[in-house]
Amino acid sequence: MPEIDYLRISLIDKCNFRCQYCMPEEAKLNYVLNQELLSNQEILTLVRDVFMPLGFTKFRLTGGEPLLRPGLVDLVRDLAQLPACKDLALTTNGFLLADLAQPLYDAGLKRINISLDSLDPQIFDQIIGNRGKSRWQQTWEGILTAHQVGFDPLKLNVVVIPGLNDQEVLDLAALSIDRQWHIRFIEFMPIGNSYLFGEKAWIDSEEIRQSVRQKWGLVESNIKGNGPADVFQIPNAKGTLGFISQMSECFCDRCNRVRLSADGWLRPCLLNETGQIDLKTALRDGVSSENLQAKISQLLLLKPEINFKERDSGTEAGTYTRTMSQIGG
Ligand code: SAM
Ligand code: SF4
Repeated sequence: MPEIDYLRISLIDKCNFRCQYCMPEEAKLNYVLNQELLSNQEILTLVRDVFMPLGFTKFRLTGGEPLLRPGLVDLVRDLAQLPACKDLALTTNGFLLADLAQPLYDAGLKRINISLDSLDPQIFDQIIGNRGKSRWQQTWEGILTAHQVGFDPLKLNVVVIPGLNDQEVLDLAALSIDRQWHIRFIEFMPIGNSYLFGEKAWIDSEEIRQSVRQKWGLVESNIKGNGPADVFQIPNAKGTLGFISQMSECFCDRCNRVRLSADGWLRPCLLNETGQIDLKTALRDGVSSENLQAKISQLLLLKPEINFKERDSGTEAGTYTRTMSQIGG
């Protein structure tokens, strides 16, 4: 078991997209109430006084859509200034990034992941559940602005779904050739809306690697991240191709992260529906930092070392009812 030193913090469960694989239409009925969200001060207190003394040094802000969170830039500035914060990153859908990229960068954020599942505006809108004016162009401009502002590394997350965007994997991979962009292909995980996509809704990473190999060749990259991605490169490309293969290849035994939901529940694993700790209530009840650390240390022992797919077998599709947007992706 690796050292658990990485906390993903969901800032909000609301989102301005409705990605079919992440957020069902009905999710908006169950949004966390504003007073139930951890405040900026509570997040800062938890990070500084509880997680950092336990050895946590890496933090990722996510959601829902974190750019919708009021006070985001202030929170980034406060977190980035903590001496024990060795790595602060954010995952966004990019739609509001053109305006926020520079303020976030100036506040101390240097690493960003942007989700982009398609280069085709029509398919993009279909995936994100948009029936109005296309949202592709504004998202693309958000990505270009982040690039110009200097985010490095700049990673693009692609969830590949058979029949939706699997025809585009080579076009998306090609974005890594001339730009120092890191394209990360993520196998769809059977949580939340999984039942919408049938029995096997993911494409094995190896299948994508095979297509890339045939077209350009593929070599292992010596640029490694600190996450679960296996990183490769098209020969002589400026950027890389990462593969996050939680369905076809087990990496649970390498997992170094836990997740804090927007309403303050700490979960040891994406799939863990039990064994969570309600940190918000404990904090609001005045439980001391030392006691919270003791509870969290116990929770870390629960982190499972079992394959995502094995755990899913024998369960009904859609068993993991909370979606990524609710858990904090
Ligand atoms: N809204 C932001 C975004 O889309 O980047 C951050 C939150 S989102 C939940 C974080 C990541 O989770 C995104 O890259 C998204 O594509 C991914 N994701 C959501 N549901 C997923 C699923 N069922 N399987 C795999 N990845 C998923
Ligand atoms: Fe929103 Fe991100 Fe989920 Fe898409 S993947 S619905 S952008 S939270």
